[in-house]
Amino acid sequence: MKVVRYQRNNEVFYGVLKGKEINPIEGELFGEFKIGSQELKISDVKLLAPIIPLDVIAIGLNYKKHADESGQSYPERPLIFLKTTSSVIGPEDKIIIPEAAPDEVDYEAELAIVIGKKAKNIEIDEVSDYILGYTCSNDVSARDCQLRIDKQWARGKSFDTFCPLGPWIETELPDPDNCKIVSRLNGKVMQDSNTSDLIFSTRELVSYCSKNFTLYPGTIIMTGTPEGVGFARKPVVFLKPGDIIEVEIEGIGILSNKVVSF
Ligand code: MG
Repeated sequence: MKVVRYQRNNEVFYGVLKGKEINPIEGELFGEFKIGSQELKISDVKLLAPIIPLDVIAIGLNYKKHADESGQSYPERPLIFLKTTSSVIGPEDKIIIPEAAPDEVDYEAELAIVIGKKAKNIEIDEVSDYILGYTCSNDVSARDCQLRIDKQWARGKSFDTFCPLGPWIETELPDPDNCKIVSRLNGKVMQDSNTSDLIFSTRELVSYCSKNFTLYPGTIIMTGTPEGVGFARKPVVFLKPGDIIEVEIEGIGILSNKVVSF
């Protein structure tokens, strides 16, 4: 099932997408709901970020080949950081190059886990009961702030618009630890990998995070990015106004965002 969040006539709804039609969800996405009979065309609504997360937990250096390209050894445990929820945008929304750090804005294609049920101290074999689904995400990063100027990552990872999510939540992804993941910049493939290269699997991440914080429904865990990011390329590639950056994950869909100036 593909869960969308959309705006129509200035109101926001959840719905279920089938083909090009949406049936509204009646009730609570994280509780009891039924799928309404009214059908809307996807072209008649604006798709929004599929969730407004309570927390955005992100994992650094979680693909073997990305750790290699970054010149770092593999972490012994998941490397957790946070992004602000105010940085979340939806499919087709614009990524704004920030005035405070315009020069080294980079993309990171990531599989994002959407928590469906309050989770605390969950074991790996229990994790599937606590996941609503998966979506595409882009961990947009100002590398100068992240890597050189600041002592930690909060600012460089959290400028407004630095967390595109979408286009929907796929609740029936067959194997989240074996999906092709690609990013394309203006149509050119920049990252082309598979979640099978993850150092810590999606289940390990949910279990580990739940043993450190309570995960509430709607929390997002961004699972890390594969190799091919802009700062590690020779020559480096950073986002500039007019660019289109896409994240595609097999079994979910394509998240596309245009880049604009501040
Ligand atoms: Mg990342």
